[in-house]
Amino acid sequence: MIIVMKPEATDEEIKGVVKSIEEHGMQVHLSKGSEMTIIGVVGDTTKQGVNGFMAMRGVGNVVQIMKPYKMSSKKFKPEGTIIKIGDVEVGGNRIAMIAGPCAVESEEQFLTIAKDVKAAGADILRGSAFKPRTSPYEFQGLGEEGLKIMKKVKQLTCMPIETEVMDTRDVEMVAEYVDVLRVGARNMHNFDLLKEVGKTNKPIILKRGMSATIKELMLASEYIMKEGNHQIILCERGIRTFETATRNTLDISAVPVLKEETHLPVIIDPSHAAGNRKYVPSMCKAAIAAGADGIIVEVHHEPEKALCDGPQSLTTQQFAELMPQLKAIAEAVGRTL
Ligand code: PEP
Ligand code: MN
Repeated sequence: MIIVMKPEATDEEIKGVVKSIEEHGMQVHLSKGSEMTIIGVVGDTTKQGVNGFMAMRGVGNVVQIMKPYKMSSKKFKPEGTIIKIGDVEVGGNRIAMIAGPCAVESEEQFLTIAKDVKAAGADILRGSAFKPRTSPYEFQGLGEEGLKIMKKVKQLTCMPIETEVMDTRDVEMVAEYVDVLRVGARNMHNFDLLKEVGKTNKPIILKRGMSATIKELMLASEYIMKEGNHQIILCERGIRTFETATRNTLDISAVPVLKEETHLPVIIDPSHAAGNRKYVPSMCKAAIAAGADGIIVEVHHEPEKALCDGPQSLTTQQFAELMPQLKAIAEAVGRTL
């Protein structure tokens, strides 16, 4: 960390900062120039960090040199993380395809879609039983009943299943039904929920908050890892920008940035990014070309009747047509699908 003192900082103020650094067990490297004083800080900055020094008299600016994330950093595990979900691996050479409806609506609906996406080559089934809806008057999901349907369909199709958990009180119960827990965009900052899923032994799909930076997404993953669970898949799902042509703006550059910064697998969700099925195929292709390890996409056999997110759901036929195109792109970038 580097502390830049204000040009008018007094000797007393400089001494105060130096004293504070030493009191917190860190070392000081002082550089007194004719214009201003710069103080290099070496050591564990967790006890007194950027904000603490910024608040001190005479301090002009504090620059953090080291990245604030530790366990999720690429340096922590340069070889990368591969997460095993049943027979599926996420983070290896093969692109993982996670597909299914936004919400589980009935056994018939979920089974029909499951069979269709499986036939098209999907690896993992998605579906939500607890729905975070913007309006409390919209379909909120089937709750535990939905999880029972998911488990039954898992047995019938032999596909691993993933679902969203929204409430700390539900984590244990939801974890008994599914193979992967998803923390949705709205809950990326719900630190209690992050800690709770961190106590499970289930892989976690952690979605980027719609106004969260990449750094905040990685720090959210640290909350999960700190509890002992290192099986995390990061998901870019579109962020809020001034653009209104799409529901959100898929931050495709988040893929290479995350692949550089972290060892955790990175997937994208084109459905919640676009909000419109017609843009979904292009975004899937872009994501694979950009280096994503997988895609989580909404698919429905009758999107016009879907209780949630029909307009952004691919039809099962569209999904089946898209898969060979994605395979070609995967192969072009040295991956398989
Ligand atoms: C979802 O994947 O079902 C979902 C609600 O997405 P997000 O949390 O990204 O809005
Ligand atoms: Mn949805």
